[in-house]
Amino acid sequence: MPRGNMPRQPSRSGRQEGARRAQGSSSLKKKIVKATTAHAKKAKPPKAAVAKKKSASGYDPLAPERVRQIIAGLDQLYPKATCALTHRSAWELLVATILSAQSTDVRVNMVTPVLFEKYPTVQDFAALEPEQLQPDIYSTGFFRNKSKSVVGAARKVVADFGGNVPETMEELLTLPGVARKTANVVLGTWFKKNEGVVVDTHVTRISRRLELTRQEDPEKIEEDLMQIIPRERWTDFSHEVIWHGRKLCVARSPKCADCALEKLCHAADKTWSTVETHAGATP
Ligand code: SF4
Repeated sequence: MPRGNMPRQPSRSGRQEGARRAQGSSSLKKKIVKATTAHAKKAKPPKAAVAKKKSASGYDPLAPERVRQIIAGLDQLYPKATCALTHRSAWELLVATILSAQSTDVRVNMVTPVLFEKYPTVQDFAALEPEQLQPDIYSTGFFRNKSKSVVGAARKVVADFGGNVPETMEELLTLPGVARKTANVVLGTWFKKNEGVVVDTHVTRISRRLELTRQEDPEKIEEDLMQIIPRERWTDFSHEVIWHGRKLCVARSPKCADCALEKLCHAADKTWSTVETHAGATP
């Protein structure tokens, strides 16, 4: 049978098991007990608790050995993963990361060389009015807000940090348009500091598919990941997962048949699976 056409393994979610058991029971007493159990299963515990608890079968998505295998699989798939945004300095990386929101790295990499040719220094950006920057970054989308963020960040870097991008999370978060994701990119990629995990759309989707978190809020996802990924791997893990999201674990129709993590992954929307899928493992 050609790859991609393999039937999925039957789901072993609690709901289906409950239904099967209810059909097969013969005594009324058993049915009552089963019905009570099924009802209890339907009552969902808080999401955070779900992610931390072992299932009745003993499966623990956060077991250190499983997490280690996921990291090893990502290392194998993307041994040279790094930030895809072209940059030559912390300032250029900061600008590129701000511009990458709701855009693609390919698009940003088309825009920034021309931009930095036109405005070579952070002081050049600080001297602009946001409106002057808009035509240069128009194609990255959300150009009005991004212009304000870039010019605002430049002014702050010049006024408060002597023209140098600060090297701490606390200071970076004082810059307009900079939240933890952007700060983590700059700290991890340029300054080689593992202060957190970059959580973008790829990391969100894949962390949830792999049951490393049940959270939806990026900061809560980051907190979950920081608890289970060794600190020295935070930046590499971020880059590797982002590459995985681009290459194989794409949003629609992930390429599971080619994925080194396939046996560890129980995502409900897998396109091919040799293991049981879990209804709760959704992107
Ligand atoms: S098996 Fe499929 S869904 Fe799971 S991580 Fe790999 S590509 Fe993504």
